[in-house]
Amino acid sequence: MAEFDFIVVGAGSAGCVLANRLTENGRYTVLLLEAGGSDMSFWIWMPIGYGKTFYRPSVNWMYSTEPIPQLDGRVSYWPRGKVMGGSSSINAMVYIRGQREDFEDWKAMGNPGWGWDDVLPYFRKSETNDRGSCDVRGGDGPVHVTTLDQYLHPLCEDFLQAGEELQFRRNRDFNGVVQEGVGTYQNTAKDGMRMSAARAYIHPARKRPNLRIEKRALATRLLFGGKRAVGVSYLQNGVERQARARREVILAAGAINSPQLLQLSGVGPGALLRDKGIEVLHAAEGVGRHLQDHLAIDYLFRSKVPTLNNQLRPWHGKLRHGLHYVLTRRGILSLGVNQAGGFVRSRPELTRPNIQLFFSPVSYTKAPPGKRPLMSPDPFPGFLMGAQPTRPTSRGHLEIRSPDPLAPPAIHPKYLETEFDVQEMLEASKLMRQFAATPALSRIIESEILPGDHIRTDDQFIADIRARAGTVFHPVGTCRMGPDPAQDVTDARLRVHGLDGLRVADTSVFPTVTSGNTNAPAIMVGEKASDIILEDHR
Ligand SMILES: Cc1cc2nc3c(=O)[nH]c(=O)nc-3n(C[C@H](O)[C@H](O)[C@H](O)COP(=O)(O)OP(=O)(O)OC[C@H]3O[C@@H](n4cnc5c(N)ncnc54)[C@H](O)[C@@H]3O)c2cc1C
Repeated sequence: MAEFDFIVVGAGSAGCVLANRLTENGRYTVLLLEAGGSDMSFWIWMPIGYGKTFYRPSVNWMYSTEPIPQLDGRVSYWPRGKVMGGSSSINAMVYIRGQREDFEDWKAMGNPGWGWDDVLPYFRKSETNDRGSCDVRGGDGPVHVTTLDQYLHPLCEDFLQAGEELQFRRNRDFNGVVQEGVGTYQNTAKDGMRMSAARAYIHPARKRPNLRIEKRALATRLLFGGKRAVGVSYLQNGVERQARARREVILAAGAINSPQLLQLSGVGPGALLRDKGIEVLHAAEGVGRHLQDHLAIDYLFRSKVPTLNNQLRPWHGKLRHGLHYVLTRRGILSLGVNQAGGFVRSRPELTRPNIQLFFSPVSYTKAPPGKRPLMSPDPFPGFLMGAQPTRPTSRGHLEIRSPDPLAPPAIHPKYLETEFDVQEMLEASKLMRQFAATPALSRIIESEILPGDHIRTDDQFIADIRARAGTVFHPVGTCRMGPDPAQDVTDARLRVHGLDGLRVADTSVFPTVTSGNTNAPAIMVGEKASDIILEDHR
């Protein structure tokens, strides 16, 4: 059986960082197991390829949740990256770290070493910001973060003015000292191409003799000697293989698959495991619990002035912008879908932003099921605004359906289970209407396409939310870090409570979802976990 110092399961946002950092000093051997294949694909590297990979089974786990009672019994489609780079290879590339208070909350929940001052050095270490480094931004890290302003659609300016008319300040840098305000997003990109965790951390390290990368290798079970993790069983090309870890196994398979693999290996809620015919190695109630995600609502408008629809819809527009991108890596196709947005307080008495905003100068009213046709927007000028509460209080869970590692787990997101979450979604919806009513936007809006003017009362807004709200793909918390072995899965050094030689390091350990997108904090977790592990083995 092949032997390594460390086995990292999952080459996603956090796993790629771990594989790089743990092999950097040349002292340790690392096996990186990734269920998906290579990321050398035009559609992954080209930002607009987001629309292609969104439903592509060759690079995407394409999960669906169970019916969600508070969303009219609808199921929610949950894409997750199944490819080198994981979800960072198929995401919308928005670079957001979260609020200082998010990490102070993590620390206050019993996680020493995870406060803002503790995590900031890891955000900085991972980043090269194209505006240069400063006390809070990084200047020479592997992840390139790019300002989009040069190619932004002029309509973004109308959105920003609308924000100012609503008394929200303009913020040039959501990842600076203050997150609050309206502004434009930065992307994880370099030279017009996606900067996934694989591009940032694996491409420069893949030739290291002490790093072995096995692609299309699905970890099916952890191997234990007593209560110590000693290796991993994995399925590759139809063959079951095993590898041994001399020091540790580190799970970085993401918020769905890390708890799934633990449960498959006999680590999880005792009753669930027994029910599925799995021998309980270690009863851990928290595995798969405490699931949190951001839920958003979109408002679509028909516009009186041209939007990206006018540039992208006609065949000659596609050709012109496509050629421009292929030849120069610049232009509108080098951008992500979300150009502007913000972090605002829906009530002035709040102490920190509770709503994240998105603005896209493009609209799609009739995407056929299973398609996200980013190059074929509506045949009329239109744009979209979206809003999502940043810190939902509802908690879901996920659980294996059977001992079969190929069977997707049952995901119960439990959106809108608390009245607080319903009220915040209501405020988010009303905020969209307030934006639309500002002088800056009302002069260019011809009509509201979705949900439409007939939605007026609170009950109607809430009915619309239940009928249309959807995930923005930020599940976290299913192997929660915290001090209580009865509820939490790892301690603050990311060691699985009650077991040896096993850690989890990905979005599943987030004690609470961060106020914003989750890729940058996942990479931060990978950086910090690497330092913790190297320290513990010094
Ligand atoms: C469509 C979409 C859009 C998004 N947009 C943004 C955005 O604009 N900005 C942002 O910040 N965040 C965004 N996110 C969220 C962000 O990308 C994720 O939160 C982050 O990438 C998760 O990192 P992770 O390391 O926890 O897991 P992942 O990056 O998902 O990595 C997990 C890896 O483990 C592999 N794996 C799983 N199970 C196994 C197994 N059993 N054996 C071997 N390998 C396994 C997977 O294939 C995957 O490569 C988006 C996500 C999606 C899906």
